[in-house]
Amino acid sequence: MNLMDNPLYKDALAQLYQAGNTMGLDPNILERLKHPKRALVVSVPIRLDDGSVRTFMGYRVQHNMTIGPGKGGIRFHPNVDLAETAGLAMLMTFKCALVGLPLGGAKGGINVDPNELSRQELQALTRRYATEISMIVGPNMDIPAPDIGTDGQTMAWFMDTYSQIKGFAVPGVVTGKPISVGGSLGRTESTGKGVVYCVNFAAQKMGMKIDHTTRVVIHGFGKVAIPAAMDLMAQGAKIIAVSDVSGAIYNPEGIDIKKAVEWTREKRFLKGLPGVEHISNEELIGMECDVFIPAAIDGIITEANMHTVRTKIIAEGANGPLTKGAVDYLHNKGVFIIPDILCNAGGVIVSYFEWVQGMQNFFWGLDEINKKLHDILKQSFSEVVGAADQYKVNMKTAALIVALRRLERAMKLRGLFPG
Ligand code: NAD
Repeated sequence: MNLMDNPLYKDALAQLYQAGNTMGLDPNILERLKHPKRALVVSVPIRLDDGSVRTFMGYRVQHNMTIGPGKGGIRFHPNVDLAETAGLAMLMTFKCALVGLPLGGAKGGINVDPNELSRQELQALTRRYATEISMIVGPNMDIPAPDIGTDGQTMAWFMDTYSQIKGFAVPGVVTGKPISVGGSLGRTESTGKGVVYCVNFAAQKMGMKIDHTTRVVIHGFGKVAIPAAMDLMAQGAKIIAVSDVSGAIYNPEGIDIKKAVEWTREKRFLKGLPGVEHISNEELIGMECDVFIPAAIDGIITEANMHTVRTKIIAEGANGPLTKGAVDYLHNKGVFIIPDILCNAGGVIVSYFEWVQGMQNFFWGLDEINKKLHDILKQSFSEVVGAADQYKVNMKTAALIVALRRLERAMKLRGLFPG
């Protein structure tokens, strides 16, 4: 498979070249960062409820582990393949370096539509996948977390499987676990909370205020989107549209997010929710608003639909939701884009807190966690704004420059093995 056939991988590489050229990155460092360190492809056969056996393809890619163990989510989605996983692993390297965590970049996933499997089938899938990749993960090697289509329950099954192999409980093998098996307070909401902190930093920079006059549109209605919507509503903002894979919903007066969550808990999808207008995902993208948060999948704003976007701030809750061409076009139109590796870093920051707490067997209070999260994102946001001013580039390139500076220093100090 040619990794360059995948738009997300191609885009991640194009951004790496642009940032590298702008900052004068050592070409030998660039050469190493272009390639993942290690990639594992596994078959994941499971017995379905009807008695038949079906095999799914699973992946784990470790992009760079210079600064520490690999870190990155596990995705269950029909688009998952080696190239997408490699591109997302690369983004994780940059994200961890940008926010100054002692972690490298990794990602994993299975090519599957989890909505088609029963709970028992999902458990079998997770346990077999965990077994197949167990030789390259571990608390000091590579620490997975939830991503699209996976959650705290998936992490609990993963942790249990790994612990069965080792013969003792190893909570540090994954983060995003439920609290009762070593999870951290605040992890579930952390990515969405971080997105909202960043929206506020951006609004402040633009002289805007997030209040009852702010109209917010969110693409997605999952683990990132829902907590972000809740926090913005708590600030008074109106969430006028949200969406999921079944379509989008719109209400100019503001959607009752709690009601929508209750509906999806029972019916799984937003489709059919009463009291709102049902529109398409494409219509949602073109909806006029003040803050647009893509928080579902990658590549939703491209050269084909970027002209329809009407917003002041784009907060990239998802990884790679805008293509490079769309970022350049919208930045030139004056839209403030908060780049994914900064905007959604709240998840990996609190995952890091979870890992540290687990290693010490000493757990912190929620206020302390949220304060530490806020402070790291505030510092990182201001470093990115500083780099954007210094190099006269957009926030996306600036974020990569800050990350690459850290990686370059560390990679040069460690040197190339065997020399
Ligand atoms: P999730 O599975 O909880 O939610 C994903 C949402 O996207 C769901 O509402 C789903 O219906 C929707 N969706 C899926 N395919 C779609 C399609 N084709 N069109 C429209 N909507 C679609 O996943 P999540 O954890 O919220 O992740 C969302 C994004 O945020 C991903 O890009 C992920 O990599 C990124 N992210 C997640 C975390 C985290 O902590 N969960 C951290 C950082 C980044």
